[in-house]
Amino acid sequence: PPRIGVLALQGAFREHRRLLESLGSTVQEVRLPADLAGLDGLILPGGESTTMAHLLTEYGLWEPIRGFSAGGGAIWGTCAGAILLAREVRGAPPQFGGRQDSLYLLDATVQRNAFGRQINSFAAPLPVQGLDTPFPAVFIRAPAFSEVGAAAAVLAHWEGQAVMLRQGNILATAFHPELTNDSRLHEFFLKMAVKSPESVQI
Ligand code: GLN
Repeated sequence: PPRIGVLALQGAFREHRRLLESLGSTVQEVRLPADLAGLDGLILPGGESTTMAHLLTEYGLWEPIRGFSAGGGAIWGTCAGAILLAREVRGAPPQFGGRQDSLYLLDATVQRNAFGRQINSFAAPLPVQGLDTPFPAVFIRAPAFSEVGAAAAVLAHWEGQAVMLRQGNILATAFHPELTNDSRLHEFFLKMAVKSPESVQI
């Protein structure tokens, strides 16, 4: 079974861990570069992306995570984690000059809080390309992918906005699959993590 790491600096990492363990995978909480050793996949959880970006700098994790991806490791960002993957982030707080660092691994621009504030959080049955029935998607101050480059494929839209992308061994969801009991997307990510990405279809 693939070994999956969950970035455990902040946010909903325990929920990912619980779901992955229910599927029989071994989970490593990642806080330091050394924690990435031997992993097949890495999940960047939801939470608060500016806080997570700050902690990635503190813990010296930006380059090790880029290297993990370059070495063939699969990465899945959910919500704030998806923001961290993008090549450009819009809607960063003014106190940061409207700029926010990211991993630049996903060929897309991400708009933070694209569906409004906390009070506009919602759950919706989301049609996802490749799934027989809609996925119960939980959107919490969710981002959306406002510009999607040629390298990335859109697997789901909500209200006309792209909310799920796949680019080779990278998966990004604007919503929180770890807050449901539906394990289909985690199962898909486990398959991405063990096989060569091109051979895996959702
Ligand atoms: N709005 C948050 C951010 O920009 C993400 C919210 C979430 O992960 N649920 O970081």
